[in-house]
Amino acid sequence: MIADYNNMPEMYWECNSKYFNHSLPTPRFGLMKKLKWLARFEYMKNKKGKYPIKRQTILFSEYYDFDEEVFRNLMVHEMIHYWLAWNGVKTRHAHGKEFMAMAEEMNAKYGLNITKTLDASSFKLTENAPQTTRFWHWLWR
Ligand SMILES: [Zn+2]
Repeated sequence: MIADYNNMPEMYWECNSKYFNHSLPTPRFGLMKKLKWLARFEYMKNKKGKYPIKRQTILFSEYYDFDEEVFRNLMVHEMIHYWLAWNGVKTRHAHGKEFMAMAEEMNAKYGLNITKTLDASSFKLTENAPQTTRFWHWLWR
């Protein structure tokens, strides 16, 4: 599935319900023209409000045609970043022990496969992706 403004909110809603007990408010969604980023979570610090962040956004690359399972795991990965930021959890590294503890708990509890990085070398590209010959075998967040 290619990320768009229908399937991102749909998958988000399902994951928020199944794995986060509906605890996260709906963020903004965005698409990026990126090969090196599969998905990403962005936000701004909120100096005044009740919550430590604002303008939170989940973005997906529009250059990949993901398997549904990969799409789901990527969404939950970004939502763990969101949950930690929303709840004001201080983290030294984006994928440090707080992130990995939640990822491992979700993997064990729900049979997910949340990882820090993914080998995207075999992922299908969309038609509008740059037509490069891919020699890479890199691991991407
Ligand atoms: Zn991440």
